[in-house]
Amino acid sequence: MKIDLSRLIDRTVYEIDFEHSLDLVKIQSTSGEIVLANPVIVKGSVYKTDDDLYLNAKVSYEYYENCARCLKEFVNKAETVLSGRLMETSQSLDTDDEPVFYYDNDHLEIKEQVLTSILLSLPMKSLCNDNCRGLCLVCGKDLNIEECSCDIQEIDPRLAKLKDLFD
Ligand SMILES: [Zn+2]
Ligand SMILES: [Zn+2]
Repeated sequence: MKIDLSRLIDRTVYEIDFEHSLDLVKIQSTSGEIVLANPVIVKGSVYKTDDDLYLNAKVSYEYYENCARCLKEFVNKAETVLSGRLMETSQSLDTDDEPVFYYDNDHLEIKEQVLTSILLSLPMKSLCNDNCRGLCLVCGKDLNIEECSCDIQEIDPRLAKLKDLFD
């Protein structure tokens, strides 16, 4: 996803708004991969201050996740923010810890940063629904679908450990 910065650099405008959708199937990470359910939306702007260019964007994505309680697959939504200073590839200034986006020939490519921001912002544990009732710890039925008659109090101590995992 390329952003043309030429009108900003020649001072025709002071801000360029953009909205791109990235049609990705999956993102590979060191801990596995995530499979996206819909195109990733990157919406934001690039703007000029006295002597610098900055980028600020919101990254919204929807991916397949398994519910931490009932284990069912569902589509989870999340979003994150990308922001930082723009620099020409030829400049190699020392930057503090501020994120930098490099551009070349008035064009900025931020796909890699979008992918990284998604991986860094992935929620740790997600529920298909805040009220998800999960699985019965005795018979394993999905309690969202069907009530069972198990007595949770008579839970086998060996299963109690498992119960902790689901709580
Ligand atoms: Zn669930
Ligand atoms: Zn049961």
